[in-house]
Amino acid sequence: MSNAPESSRRVISTHSLSKTFSHTGTQQNVLDRLDLDIREGDFTVIMGPSGAGKSTLLYALSGMDRPTLGTVEFDGTDISDYSEDRLARFRRSHCGFVFQQVYLLDAMSVMDNVMAVGLLVSHDRGGVRRRAEELFEMVGLSQAQTRKSATMLSGGEAQRAAIVRGLINAPDVLFADEPTGQLNSETSTRVLDLLSQVNAAGQTIVMVTHDVRSAARGNRILYLRDGHVQGELDLGRDDPGWSHRQQRLAGFLDELG
Ligand code: ADP
Ligand code: MG
Repeated sequence: MSNAPESSRRVISTHSLSKTFSHTGTQQNVLDRLDLDIREGDFTVIMGPSGAGKSTLLYALSGMDRPTLGTVEFDGTDISDYSEDRLARFRRSHCGFVFQQVYLLDAMSVMDNVMAVGLLVSHDRGGVRRRAEELFEMVGLSQAQTRKSATMLSGGEAQRAAIVRGLINAPDVLFADEPTGQLNSETSTRVLDLLSQVNAAGQTIVMVTHDVRSAARGNRILYLRDGHVQGELDLGRDDPGWSHRQQRLAGFLDELG
């Protein structure tokens, strides 16, 4: 199905990954023996109906949560039985996160929010600051804006700052869970353009979305339902026409019914 070159490295592999939640007496199998790979450089999109387990899968892939059964290998290392501490350290240096809610701390400047995350991994304050400045410039936030509290930014600006925070430790994978869920159409486009740009520069991205317009940014689409990957679409990279990509994606979703 996929045209990805054989050489493209697998950054994450899951083996029979299962996640079960117990609610008063009943068991819910949210992820049911999933085997999937995330390849280096890909912009992988996870779609599926609400409650399908998209966020649960993202948390398992990124070490935010542990599988009930099965394993998650990150760069060939099984992270599924790491202790909490080890998992937290692993996440800081290998994973970046962008959520629907921005979660910047209001009491600090936007720059300090990013610096705080950078300094969890590096002691080189000057180096972290320079990298933050470069990233803020890339996302189009001025120095004046980064000195303000996050409360002073618009929703789209705050999400761009959150992307900077997600990238500050040069993560192997940037995970995004409905990153445009709170944004209007125009600011969504800007955030999606930014993710496309970062991916084109080599950043591996895994994004959850139920929105076709957002999903068309990915080169590989996984459709999750009933605990399984029900369909996979290779959208490739060579077709820059968003409307054509969206049409192909809509056709794929129609076929899944
Ligand atoms: P999606 O992101 O696709 O909308 P989620 O991964 O958030 O779906 O949730 C999938 C299912 O798992 C839902 O039915 C949800 O209620 C359940 N679930 C998710 N997290 C928990 C949890 N921490 N405890 C119990 N049930 C959960
Ligand atoms: Mg979700």
